[in-house]
Amino acid sequence: MSEDDCIFCQIVDGDIPSRTVFEDDTAMAFLDANPLAPGHTLVIPKEHYETLEETPEDVAAHVFGVLHRLNTAVEHAVDADATTVAFNNGEAAGQEVPHLHGHIIPRFEGDGGRPIHAVAGERPDLSDEELDEIAEEIHNQR
Ligand code: AMP
Ligand code: ZN
Repeated sequence: MSEDDCIFCQIVDGDIPSRTVFEDDTAMAFLDANPLAPGHTLVIPKEHYETLEETPEDVAAHVFGVLHRLNTAVEHAVDADATTVAFNNGEAAGQEVPHLHGHIIPRFEGDGGRPIHAVAGERPDLSDEELDEIAEEIHNQR
């Protein structure tokens, strides 16, 4: 998908309407059009980056700052008991709109939702050696 076809770029440009709850030079936040809970909010960088890997660190940090600030505002606005804050980062993780966005999903006692542990498949059975190797590989990739 090119940036011209990107729904969220069109929201940034004002070509598609949104219920915007925050905007500055770098980021924007608006209500999800198909909310999983009242107050479900998306926070995006205004520039088109598909995933966290593509997003420069300063932009990602700014987006996270907005998530942090709005998280409290959203919780208070809908009197939520908690929130799930998450990114579907890449198609294999379920990302449908290929423009980076963080979800703030209000959560309520007994809402029947699941914790973030429920999003992946079955837990792998990893030996201590495999865990050591993975930790070293991640450390070396930094
Ligand atoms: P994801 O699966 O993480 O890519 O989530 C995409 C989210 O964008 C979904 O929760 C959709 O409901 C939401 N969405 C799609 N189109 C719009 C739109 N025009 N305005 C607001 N939210 C949208
Ligand atoms: Zn875009």
